[in-house]
This record gives sequence, C-alpha cells and structure tokens, in this order.
Amino acid sequence: MLKQITSLASLLIFSAAVSSAQQAPATPQITVIRAGKFIDVDSGRVLTNQTILVRAGKIESIGEHLTVPAGATVIDLSKMTILPGLIDCHTHLADLGYSESLLVLQKSAAESAYAVIPNARATLLAGFTTVRDVGVYRAFNDVALRDAIAQGTVIGPRMFVAGAYITISEGAGAMTGLAPDMQLPLDLRYGEANSPWEVRQKIRELAHRGADHIKVLATGAVLTHGSNPKSVEFTPEELQAAVDEAHNFGLRVEAHAHAAEGIKNAIRAGVASIEHATLIDDEGITLAKQHGTYLDMDIYDEECIQDAAKENKTPADFLEHDRDLGETHRRNFTKAVRAGVKMSFGTDAGVCPHGINARQFAFMVKYGMTPLQAIQSATSNAADLLGKSDLLGSLQPGKYADIIAVSGNPLDDVRLLENVKFVMKEGKIYKQEP
Ligand SMILES: [Zn+2]
Repeated sequence: MLKQITSLASLLIFSAAVSSAQQAPATPQITVIRAGKFIDVDSGRVLTNQTILVRAGKIESIGEHLTVPAGATVIDLSKMTILPGLIDCHTHLADLGYSESLLVLQKSAAESAYAVIPNARATLLAGFTTVRDVGVYRAFNDVALRDAIAQGTVIGPRMFVAGAYITISEGAGAMTGLAPDMQLPLDLRYGEANSPWEVRQKIRELAHRGADHIKVLATGAVLTHGSNPKSVEFTPEELQAAVDEAHNFGLRVEAHAHAAEGIKNAIRAGVASIEHATLIDDEGITLAKQHGTYLDMDIYDEECIQDAAKENKTPADFLEHDRDLGETHRRNFTKAVRAGVKMSFGTDAGVCPHGINARQFAFMVKYGMTPLQAIQSATSNAADLLGKSDLLGSLQPGKYADIIAVSGNPLDDVRLLENVKFVMKEGKIYKQEP
C-alpha cells in the first residue's frame, strides 16, 4: 500500500513537470500606453506626455519619462485623451429590459441569463469598465453574470451586484400587476421582507449567496404597477435593520427613494447612497451633507421614458407616476450640486438602452456640474461609494489598468465621452478605434 502511494506520488510529480515544460515561460506581459493628454481625476489636472506601464492587469507606474522595458507592447494613444475606466453606480444589466417587468414571466431562467449577455458587452464597449448593478427581478441572475464576466466567459464590465431587490410585499421592487391568486416562484419574489427581522434574514441569505452590496426600496417607484413614487414603503426601523445587518457582513446599502420622507429615513438609517433622490427637500440635502451620503441621481432617464411613450412602449400607469417628476428631479440635482453634496454617476441603465450611459454626462453639466465634476462622479467618487478607491476610480500605481481614451478633450466637450475609442479593462484591450 505504501509503495503504491509512493509510486502514485512520483507519477504526479512527473506529469506536473511535463505539463510545466510544455507551457510558455511565465513572464508577465507588459503593456505601455503613450497618452497624449491624461485627466488626473484626483488632482483635477490635465497632464501631457504621460506613459503608463501595465503589468498583470494593474498599473505599475505612470509618469513623463518612463523607460519602456524590452519586449513590451506599446500602444500609441498620443493623439487622444486618457481617463480612468468609467463606473456606472446604478445599472440593471441582468434584467431583461425596461418598461414592462411582467415580460420576465415569458422567459425561463436560462433564457433570461443568455438574453442579458449583450447588455454587459454594450456597457463595457461604451467605456464603463465597472458597474454597481442594483437589482434584478430574477434573483441571482446578476451574481451569475458577474461571475461569468470575471471568468472570461462573457465580455462585460466588472460587476458589483445586489443579488435581489429587498422590498415590501407588492412594493417598488416586487413583481406586481399579477392576479391575486397567482403565486410566483421563489426567485421572482426572493427579496420580499415585511419586518426588521425579515429584512435581516434576507440580508443574511444574500450575503451568503454572493451579494456585494444590498439594495433596499424605501419608497414607491415609477416603473412598477400599483406603486406610488411619493409613498414611503420600508419604515425607519426596517431601514435601520438593513444597514445594521449589512454592516455585519461588511456590505453597504443603497436605497431607492423618490419621496422626500423616504429619502430622509434612509439617510438617517445610514445608507451609503440614495438612488434617484427625485423629491429630495432642503432638509434631505442638509442631512445628506451631514452624513456624507452619496446621491445617485439618474437625470437622463426622463428622455428615454418620454421617447418610449411616443412609441407607446411605456405603460400608461408608469407615465402617470412620472408626470411632473422629471423636471423636479433635475432642479433638485442642481440644488444638491450647489450645496456640495457627494454625487455619484448612476443612470438606471435598462430604463435607457444599455451602452448609452454616457449621455447623462451632458445633462449633469447642463444642470450644474463642471465637466470635471461629472467625470469625477463616474470615477473617483464612484470608487469611493463602492469602497474600492484602492483599486478603482483613478489611474495610480497598484490600481486596476481600467483605461479609456477619447479623441479631443472631454473637459471642453463632455459629450466626447459618448464616443469612447479605446477600452482596456484589467490590462486587456476590448476596443481600439482610430
Ligand atoms: Zn434602478
């Protein structure tokens, strides 16, 4: 028996030696990027003639007179402007589409998983190398997509996912509009919770099953049947339980909130960000500033909701919810920017088609931000909101080589970000146009 074990061990050692001899030598590939202009989002300055050294997916060094190592692949972007990969803090890549959530019932779980693959690709090729994906009707479709991207099976941005919506029964994150005697399968009602302890139970399950952060719905919604965006849903006690329980697992909480009272409840409970923040009042703005809460205001969406309405693609009850909210939302965005509240870039992509996320930049500038502030909301601020400033959000040694380029200077014309020419994620090039 002992002899058998010994000979088996030597056989394993032998086969390991053979397979390593067949592999290519393990020198990590070095890529050098020559940047014409470089927007340093940390200092807010535009640097010229910078060289970026990329090794093993991360930035090794960056500066003006770097020596190019022998054998390095050189990418000449000297006619372009380089920026960190963009981050959208409010996407729904793993959901089937906008306007009518009940369409989810017409697709199997497997169909849903395949159908969302193009969403991920379009987002990455638009220059968004990371997203915080904030909920999905079919629970864990987002976890599966995140993992498929990380494994290289699917092309897409790095995803941080919620796993499911935590919502009251028949609330803003529930699949509503069904006959009362219809029973949904578990994965389509996974996040329903109706007390602080049920909220805690859901968070414990989601944390165990791969959520990176927790999404709660504090008020009614626009794009949900039978919902009223001006109504409060989760109570302060339930929101407090959510934040407390999420923190036990090292997770942050984002709260969907339109109504002023729901926004304030969520800020007081200690959420990391308010999603939409549509009807935020002066007290809410002061509270957000005091607590350091991010506002993630999707002010471009209104364009897509109204465009879809012209083609009769938006259900009438959704349009009724949306009436008068669009302009108020944008006015409140201006107020929040002026007050100096922390702002992140979130589009609610899925309401608008995936891949046109960057159209929101021009609206953020139109409603009060400088182009630099708008860019920072989608880079350094977004990374801070994710708690990942050590790896994301700016181009510094040790951070991921998530790099995009545009022709021209987006600080002069922020709309240039709608036409990204070069996309690198973790050292790998996904797009390179002249
Ligand atoms: Zn959303």
